[in-house]
Amino acid sequence: MIIAIDGPAASGKSTTAKKVAEMLNFIYVDTGSMYRAVTLAVLNAGMDPNVESDVKGILPNLAISVEVSEGGSKTLLDGNDVSEETRRTGVTNHVSAVSAMPSVREEMVAMQRRITVGKDAVVEGRDIGTVVFPKADFKFYFTASHTARAERRRLDLKKLGIEHSTEEIIEDLKRRDDIDSGRIHSPLTRADDAITVDTTNLTFDEQVAFIVNRVRNS
Ligand code: C5P
Repeated sequence: MIIAIDGPAASGKSTTAKKVAEMLNFIYVDTGSMYRAVTLAVLNAGMDPNVESDVKGILPNLAISVEVSEGGSKTLLDGNDVSEETRRTGVTNHVSAVSAMPSVREEMVAMQRRITVGKDAVVEGRDIGTVVFPKADFKFYFTASHTARAERRRLDLKKLGIEHSTEEIIEDLKRRDDIDSGRIHSPLTRADDAITVDTTNLTFDEQVAFIVNRVRNS
């Protein structure tokens, strides 16, 4: 069974998806971290993350893998866990440009389908219900106000020791939303058959319960 959870950055998808996976004993796949790992590799190679021909050139040699477990997802680059490193600002600034490239998306989508073959999975991203798994058993689309999303992201970054003002974060979220929603290949958009979950005024427990109840009661 596949549960797809899509939505913009900091809408509450990741924490919710992880908990839902843990409660249902499903694997959790964080697809954003895969695009972040490609971006990190591009930056480490000293390449321009805006030039697709350069990025395409390193794709065949990329050693990206994902270790999934119930409620956990680790992204490895060259065998090293880069899950935390890829959440830092340098990668975040360029990830939307890299993930808009069709060659990158093709590779990542193929990997996402491979990882989940024969498994029950909660897969979280931007195009899971529309492109990666258009026949997913359940599709949820998370939204939230800019202020609620920025506050969540601010607290996440604080845990990593990074301080940004809410205003700076709102600017970054809007910039990424524009690129993610405006790209030609697999833009961020709600699948017609997805259930919208507006998390602005929901607690974490309410978000989790909403999905778990839908799945268990179906
Ligand atoms: O979810 P997260 O914020 O970590 O994703 C980082 C970036 O990766 C997004 O802003 C988006 O550009 C890209 N992404 C994507 N498709 C996905 C998941 C993430 O394009 N399925």
